[in-house]
Amino acid sequence: MALDKSKIAIVGAGLVGSTTAFSLITQGVCDEILMIDINKERAYGEVMDLNHCIEYLNRNTNVITGTYENCKDVDIVVITAGLPPKPGQTRLDTLDLSAQIVESIVNPIIKSGFNGYFIIVSNPVDIIAHYVYKISGLPKNHIIGTGTSVDSARLKNFIADLINVDPRSIQAYSMGEHGDSQMVPWSHVTVGGKSFNTILEDNKNLLGKVDLDKLVLDTARAGWEVYDRKGTTYYAIAAATVAIIKAIMYNENKIIPVSTLLEGEYGEYDVFCGVPCVLNSEGVKDILEIHLTDDELNKFKSSINIIREYTDKIIKKIK
Ligand code: NAD
Repeated sequence: MALDKSKIAIVGAGLVGSTTAFSLITQGVCDEILMIDINKERAYGEVMDLNHCIEYLNRNTNVITGTYENCKDVDIVVITAGLPPKPGQTRLDTLDLSAQIVESIVNPIIKSGFNGYFIIVSNPVDIIAHYVYKISGLPKNHIIGTGTSVDSARLKNFIADLINVDPRSIQAYSMGEHGDSQMVPWSHVTVGGKSFNTILEDNKNLLGKVDLDKLVLDTARAGWEVYDRKGTTYYAIAAATVAIIKAIMYNENKIIPVSTLLEGEYGEYDVFCGVPCVLNSEGVKDILEIHLTDDELNKFKSSINIIREYTDKIIKKIK
């Protein structure tokens, strides 16, 4: 009897890639993981270390090194290859090199016959996801940037700390660029079904004046706060990436804010950015179009303008 194996390839066996692989095996998400890296020794070292965990985990996952040719029958390719920004650089400063790296990965993977889903983690993630969409020729629902999934988790942490509830009881999205210009539609933040704005109004005595703009800034800055202390970030993004993988592999219809192509939603066209999406075995099944106030829509569009400016530069190069 031949059973189809669920396979995930991770390209970039650095900190984000190997932490994603570790999260996958500890949660027992798939049958096989291929680790691919330009640094073959690094990939092999990670494969060995990951295999040495199996004895103590709930299930056996076959973790091996792979090549782009091996990606033909892989379900999901996660791209985490690239260089994290150097001190003083923004994510956008890494665009040119990141695009070159991603091109050298995507072309041979497509040549292998791969027809699955790309999850893009490499920064600047919105623009790189768009680039992968253009050069891969795959349908838009097959290209998923991790977008503001990790920022939304950070935002929930800030709100949770403020009002002392479990972050998972909070509904909140960060939207737009996975970067400095991201915004938060406060009119859609709820805690246990109660509007956050009303919670603030009802608890003035307890909470005092809460600076929402600062909370947005703190959310956008949170990755940098981690970066300043440990030189990079990887646990949170790995957790978000695995949540996206599970939503696809288990056909969950889970709503996660990811970077996807807008084609008229929010009045925007031809731009990848972070918006809440329904994810299932079709990848991005639907984009949730939440009603933004005029002020929120302006902030969202400002963020999109920044993504578009950089996207145009890089897309021009492939025309
Ligand atoms: P890292 O330096 O630890 O790992 C990167 C890996 O990519 C290295 O092992 C390197 O050998 C490999 N690589 C480089 N060029 C390659 C190529 N041409 N082909 C195959 N592999 C190649 O870096 P990291 O901390 O794991 O970060 C990786 C990427 O993820 C960066 O772009 C970083 O900005 C991004 N990142 C994104 C988020 C997010 O929220 N989207 C969060 C953290 C990091």
